[in-house]
Amino acid sequence: MTSLKKIIITVDGWSSCGKSTMARQLAKKLQYIFIDSGAMYRAITLYFIRNEVRLDDATQVVHALQQIKLSFHLNAENGNNEIWLNGENVETFIREMRVAEKVSEVAAIREVREFAVKQQQLIGKDKGIVMDGRDIGTAVFPGAELKIFMTADNEVRVMRRFKELVAKNPSIQMEDVRSNLAQRDHMDSNREVSPLRKADDAIVLDNSHMTPEEQLQLALQWAYEKMTA
Ligand code: C5P
Repeated sequence: MTSLKKIIITVDGWSSCGKSTMARQLAKKLQYIFIDSGAMYRAITLYFIRNEVRLDDATQVVHALQQIKLSFHLNAENGNNEIWLNGENVETFIREMRVAEKVSEVAAIREVREFAVKQQQLIGKDKGIVMDGRDIGTAVFPGAELKIFMTADNEVRVMRRFKELVAKNPSIQMEDVRSNLAQRDHMDSNREVSPLRKADDAIVLDNSHMTPEEQLQLALQWAYEKMTA
């Protein structure tokens, strides 16, 4: 029997194209660690909002980052790896619209990226990890064995995010979701520090017309090819 090599799998792409869902399922199948790097930027943003940190004041930003401790813990009830900020489970709070509206601005700050990337690289140092985000294949793990770049039609992404948010907040407006996605995509792909872009060696996965099961099977096939190479 061929033994399977432990690898790093990166999943990058546009907002709301199902990166976390796919990455989580992939990690579960392979018994790998799953890390949602977006949750880290969201938790930092939540801390900045709660503590009224001024984003244009580098001293305040650096001081705030020194107060932040992020960790991931398995939730035994749903089997998900959830993010904790300074000892508090903030998984629900980081999905709120007020965080979504600010997160791309926060994620564009150099010091914030350095803070998050350092922790992401540490978590992945022993491989056996699936991490999703925007710059994982380009900046965090440029040497990763398997890089997937996910995309989907714009309206498909808007509908998916709207359905997810409206379940928690029935007053949410489709137009707000649409403009938030457009704004984040624009900021994420135009920022100076590690902008969202496809790594040259990434495989594109357009899931506009795929079921979650179909995309998982495809990704699993790619993963096994790399693990047995
Ligand atoms: O993945 P999610 O949509 O939760 O990420 C929230 C935001 O965090 C993104 O819109 C982006 O601004 C930022 N992000 C990033 N780099 C990553 C992951 C997320 O800049 N690796």
